[in-house]
Amino acid sequence: MRTLGTGSFGRVHLVRSVHNGRYYAIKVLKKHQVVKMKQVEHTNDERRMLKLVEHPFLIRMWGTFQDLKNLFMVMDYIEGGELFSLLRKSQRFPNPVAKFYAAEVVLALEYLHSHDIIYRDLKPENILLDRNGHIKITDFGFAKEVSTVTWTLCGTPDYIAPEVITTKPYNKSVDWWSLGVLIYEMLAGYTPFYDSTPMKTYEKILSGKIHFPSFMGPDVIDLLSRLITADLTSRLGNLLNGPADIRNHSWFSEVVWEKLLAKDIETPYEPPITAGVGDSSLFDHYPEEHLDYGSIGEDPYSQYFNDF
Ligand code: AMP
Repeated sequence: MRTLGTGSFGRVHLVRSVHNGRYYAIKVLKKHQVVKMKQVEHTNDERRMLKLVEHPFLIRMWGTFQDLKNLFMVMDYIEGGELFSLLRKSQRFPNPVAKFYAAEVVLALEYLHSHDIIYRDLKPENILLDRNGHIKITDFGFAKEVSTVTWTLCGTPDYIAPEVITTKPYNKSVDWWSLGVLIYEMLAGYTPFYDSTPMKTYEKILSGKIHFPSFMGPDVIDLLSRLITADLTSRLGNLLNGPADIRNHSWFSEVVWEKLLAKDIETPYEPPITAGVGDSSLFDHYPEEHLDYGSIGEDPYSQYFNDF
């Protein structure tokens, strides 16, 4: 029906099923782009991870297929738009609002990590809001199943942990660093290492210096200092108690985690949409292009995407 978003290898469409009348989001990746940008393994990982995960705050994928030129992933359509759009519209979130979204993200990351999945691309663009205002994390393009450490340089500059930039072996705790950056951005309206080019941002990340605006309270500054730290022996989430140290931090003291997981907590913002009718008013518009879906023939990439 229309394009909901674009990525480097393709786009996400809003579609309506002829079969049941329901709305879905289909992510389409161009095979030649995926191959050219050396993302074959990441794309197969994305499909595998999405099939595996089942959690209230993670996107649900129904299935995949392919044609000669493209890969297709069918997901639930999440109607409330990106947390990114809400944040830019609001400039910054009040403390309780940031806390609500952060707490749902903590539960989602904790679930992924318990399945040995590192997410690696946490940022407000990848957090969607459902019709009630609960989060759904989307885009598993960099998610990877890893029980120990890995090395690939990936993610988004403002959110990347220092050990990823310096291509040291790294583990799940890169996601807890990004959680710190996310909380900072929700409260401040900008990321802590923002600069005009990725290279300057990397330099700031590696410098280890972080400035906290005066409106941030001592408890959140304490939490952020313990998440956005290069020292892996003191980064919260990476210690003996794992993610429990984050859940038990004083900034989260009001959160009743069991109720939150059961979605039994009122959301801070109810997206102004009509549910179930394919309302996409909260998504930005993208130029539509001619679609060449459904073509058949000799596939030069047939050996790469056998699982789709
Ligand atoms: P991605 O390439 O997976 O990051 O998707 C690009 C953009 O498409 C996202 O930032 C969202 O705006 C949109 N999008 C992705 N998946 C969905 C979905 N399941 N429902 C609604 N919008 C989506």
